[in-house]
Amino acid sequence: MSSTSPAAVPVAVQLSGSLLPCGICGVAVEGPHLQRDVAELTISAVDDPRLGVRELHPPRSLAVTRCAACRGRLDRARAAVDAFGAFAARLGSRSLIVERLEAVLAVEGVTSSAVRLESPRDLSTALEHLNVAGAAALWSTRFSPVQASGARLGVANAAPFAHVDAEVRQAARDGLAALLRSRLLRTGPVAVPLEPPADSARRGCLLCGVATSTIWEALTTTRRSVGGTVSPGWMEPIEGDVCGRCGDVLAEVGSVGQTAMKRSLLGHLGVAHTFATDAVEMTIRGFGALPGGTPANRSPWAHLDLAAIRRDLREIAGVR
Ligand SMILES: [Zn+2]
Ligand SMILES: [Zn+2]
Repeated sequence: MSSTSPAAVPVAVQLSGSLLPCGICGVAVEGPHLQRDVAELTISAVDDPRLGVRELHPPRSLAVTRCAACRGRLDRARAAVDAFGAFAARLGSRSLIVERLEAVLAVEGVTSSAVRLESPRDLSTALEHLNVAGAAALWSTRFSPVQASGARLGVANAAPFAHVDAEVRQAARDGLAALLRSRLLRTGPVAVPLEPPADSARRGCLLCGVATSTIWEALTTTRRSVGGTVSPGWMEPIEGDVCGRCGDVLAEVGSVGQTAMKRSLLGHLGVAHTFATDAVEMTIRGFGALPGGTPANRSPWAHLDLAAIRRDLREIAGVR
C-alpha cells in the first residue's frame, strides 16, 4: 500500500527532544496530548527495496501518540459506540469496533470530508465502505507489523496524512462516494414523506408524533408504554405506526418505553446519548399517550416543551 515514487515522499520534520509522531495522521506531537495516548508499536519486519522483506530478530519498537485532532476523532468513535451500544456489540468487541471506527474517521483527515456516525446505519455503512482505506491511511500501518519501504524512523509529517499515497487517497474517496450512494439510495428522490397508512389509528408517529415520514412501521403498544398517565384502559393495546427514525431506535433499543423515546428525542435534538444525558431524568409522553384527535406534529416531539428539555440537558448534562 505504500508508494515509493519520489513524488509521494512526504515533506517530513525531524523528531527531536520529546516529540513523538501521531500514530494516526503522522504529525509531530508535544505537550499535554503527548503522554495520554502513547503506545508502542512492534516492527517485526522491514520491507527494503534492495534486500526484500526481512524479519527482525529481535523486533523493534516505535513509540507513537495521538495529536489533538486525532484524539478528538477517537473520542467521537467511542461516543458513537456508546450511543449505539447494543448495535455495536453485534459487530464485535468494543475495543475492536472503536479501533475500526477510528480508522474510518481517519478518512476525514485524508479527504477533508465529514463522516457521519449518528445512527446504527451510519456506523455499519461507514465500516463497510471506509474501514479498509482508513486502516491503510494510518501512519502506524507503515511501521507495524512491517516497516514499509520509504517509511523512515525519526521523522514525522509536516502536515496530517502527508504520507498517504495517491492510491490510498483514491480508495478513501471511492469509499466515501460508495457510502454516499448507499445513503442516497435509501432516502433519495423516490422517497416522498407520507402520512401514516390510511388504516392507522393515529395520524402521527406513536412516539414522536411526526405527521409525515418516508417509512412507516406498524406498532402495537399500550398508552402506558408510551408514557401515558394512569387512567382507564391505559394497559389495553393501541395500534398505530411509528416513523422511520423511531423505528430505527426501536430496532436498536428492543422495546417501547422511556429509553426508546428518550433516544429518539435526543436524536431529534442532535444530542448524542452519553452517561451525562443518562443523568437527566425525563418522563416523556409519546404522541400515542395524548388524547385521541390530537393533531400530529409538523416536526418530531413538537408536543413536548423542547426549550425546557434543552435547558435541562444544558444545565444537568452540560450539553451545548
Ligand atoms: Zn493525528
Ligand atoms: Zn417518530
